[in-house]
Amino acid sequence: MTACQVVNPATAEVIRTVELTSAEAADAAIERASAAAPSWRAVAPGDRARLLRRFADAVDADLENLAQLEVANSGHPIGNARWEAGNVRDVLHYYAAAPERLIGKQIPVPGGVNITFAEPLGVVGVIVPWNFPMPIAGWGFAPALAAGNTVVLKPAELTPLTALRLAELAREAGIPQDVFQVLPGKGSVVGRRFVEHPAVRKVVFTGSTEVGKQIMAGCSQQVKRVTLELGGKNANIVFADADLERAAATAPYGVFDNAGQDCCARSRILVQAEVYDRFMELLEPAVKGVVVGDPGEESTEMGPLISAEHRASVAAYLDGAAPVAFTGSAPEGPGFWFPPTVVTPRDVTDPLLTEEIFGPIVAVVPFSDEAEAIALANDTEYGLSGSIWTSDVGRALRVSRGVEAGNLSVNSHASVRYWTPFGGFKQSGLGRELGPDAVEAFTETKNVFISTEGNR
Ligand code: NDP
Repeated sequence: MTACQVVNPATAEVIRTVELTSAEAADAAIERASAAAPSWRAVAPGDRARLLRRFADAVDADLENLAQLEVANSGHPIGNARWEAGNVRDVLHYYAAAPERLIGKQIPVPGGVNITFAEPLGVVGVIVPWNFPMPIAGWGFAPALAAGNTVVLKPAELTPLTALRLAELAREAGIPQDVFQVLPGKGSVVGRRFVEHPAVRKVVFTGSTEVGKQIMAGCSQQVKRVTLELGGKNANIVFADADLERAAATAPYGVFDNAGQDCCARSRILVQAEVYDRFMELLEPAVKGVVVGDPGEESTEMGPLISAEHRASVAAYLDGAAPVAFTGSAPEGPGFWFPPTVVTPRDVTDPLLTEEIFGPIVAVVPFSDEAEAIALANDTEYGLSGSIWTSDVGRALRVSRGVEAGNLSVNSHASVRYWTPFGGFKQSGLGRELGPDAVEAFTETKNVFISTEGNR
């Protein structure tokens, strides 16, 4: 066994050492999950629902502890971390309603009866990134367990603590050990076994588009089911007829929440040319007002970046020629701090406008009319989310239909509600998580014909 040191990104101090799962141990865990699958799928729907609700209650009882763990491990502001733990609880409650509603169809056919069953897949492997360790884990394991699958979950090497605690809480709630296992370890070791081991029937992956493509290619070898939630380069489109004060006041939240380490971050602000100067005047105090600092403080709005390495990759985006319009503030260190930063690139091919930076840098560009706004918004390989600010309902709908993205908000930056579907167009992903249909993505449809006429 090797171990990794877990670091608090706000202080750069080592806070825990966690043993990493080897490839052999991952295989053994997958095989235990496979052996546990028949008895888990045989649990009566009402009993499976009760166990998921008890798990949700255990998360609720432990909410403050989970939130504090995330503050220490991920540097998330405490208010955000409480929301994240609450999201796991809510997602568990939401999908606890599913086992009793996983009903098949009876389809009229001559000479007999035709019925369909929603069968669980078996073992589901969930691979979680470091940016939202709790919610993204829950979006995978809650519907998978509800549908009668067993789950092996790999947290990111940088942020394993809350996932390990969630496994303890599942056990306390009565979910059998081999039904939900958390395996901290490297993507290239544990994640890879999820892709390659034939007993894993589906991989749910959230992370970079680059690794997502490797996962998809690997899964194709066994025609393994896969759901991918990948990167984003999302546009926040501000029309001249919008409530400019609100659009500017909320734009920092739209991109700097979680220090921009968010696949839904609105990292491009497109502003209609006639209000561009006024918008920038309003944006500057809003950006300078973002409270960056100790994530344990209730008033903090933005914490540090996840690691020194990631901070260096974010900082490298400012080495080019794009002018920095203004920045907010950030502590000097220790810790991996980076200030909210607004840039105004002139060239549409600038990486600031095309690449997912995953940090607190936002690029602002002007546009002339609705058609150009849609064209600019779509001028990316990604298609995850976006915002449209306008007072014209017709325009809101036209632009919503024109932008190629899975999750859009009008006069808001809301991206995630667990009872609505979430996922991306183009290279932002494949499939949808959350919402009423997510459980079906963890089942196979089986069609059975029963002859009543003695026919062939
Ligand atoms: P990765 O895509 O590398 O990692 C995400 C998860 O996948 C981690 O658990 C990782 O494990 C695992 N993983 C890595 N390689 C493999 C593999 N070959 N097989 C199976 N699993 C694997 O993201 P990074 O953490 O490296 O972040 C890089 C960039 O990706 C960010 O800067 C950002 O742009 C983007 N990103 C996007 C996210 C999103 O929400 N869409 C989330 C995270 C990152 P390990 O712990 O070993 O790294």
